[in-house]
Amino acid sequence: MRERWVVSAASVVALVASGALAAQEPDFSKVEIKSSQLAPNLYLLTGAGGNIAAATGAEGVLLVDDQFAPLADKIRAALKSAGAEQPVRFIVNTHYHFDHTDGNLPWQQAGAVVIAQENLRTRLASGGVIGNGGAIAHEVKPVAAGALPILTYEQEITVHLNGEDARIHHYAHAHTDGDSVVFFPRAAAVHMGDIYVRYGFPFIDTNGGGSVQGMLAACEDVIKSVPEDTKVIPGHGEVASISDLREYAKMLADTSALVAKAVKAGKTLKQMQDEKLLGAWSARYSPAKAFVDTDAFTQSLYNSYVKAAAR
Ligand SMILES: [Zn+2]
Repeated sequence: MRERWVVSAASVVALVASGALAAQEPDFSKVEIKSSQLAPNLYLLTGAGGNIAAATGAEGVLLVDDQFAPLADKIRAALKSAGAEQPVRFIVNTHYHFDHTDGNLPWQQAGAVVIAQENLRTRLASGGVIGNGGAIAHEVKPVAAGALPILTYEQEITVHLNGEDARIHHYAHAHTDGDSVVFFPRAAAVHMGDIYVRYGFPFIDTNGGGSVQGMLAACEDVIKSVPEDTKVIPGHGEVASISDLREYAKMLADTSALVAKAVKAGKTLKQMQDEKLLGAWSARYSPAKAFVDTDAFTQSLYNSYVKAAAR
């Protein structure tokens, strides 16, 4: 367990050093888990790594994502102070990136069952290089056997707990090839994982089977599947509205249409970057020291189209 924590912390340091995957505070002793209530039985927990949703009640707790292993005790304490005394029984991993799944091992050792799309389990087991096929690359090792999801599904699975029907749906080739979006119809909320983020241009793990086409399709499907007052939990950043998600989806549609057209016209990636093809979106989506700057995003879109053509 200890060794694993060391590995995790080292990964985070490497990540921050390479400016990758939404830089997070690597000193877990200083991380504070904050909770906010989104609905009578639904909480948002933030600390380091991806946003956690906690669906609570007398039958136990379901978490969506689990951040980092060293934070498991703090997450448990935060749940307790929010009034959720019951054990965590189920955890959904929205995708394989370690800032969303590193807590799997301690939680499963404590008796929880991790649920994930089957491609996610394969990627956690194999390790590999998370990246956009260019400027962003981060190597990850295979995880411990006990950290692999116990329960996998292919297209959709529902957890019926505390009177809520948490519907876990797979969207193909989106942020990765193993993404789950979790719908909470009673609480009127949806957790999008990193298909939707609010730190600027999104990271698309084209190495891990992601593509902008899949990301856009997922956003559009969520928008048409839920009521307009649904709270949208992004993988990173503040809780959003459906209209925020619509604006983001439009950005994905407009930027990827430009890149698709340029690819068709035979332009190279470098030409697109030099011509600042996506310059009109830089001010809004590529803040200073952006994890995914305009050039990296252009590269992600370019690789999405090149890989899709080969698929
Ligand atoms: Zn991610």
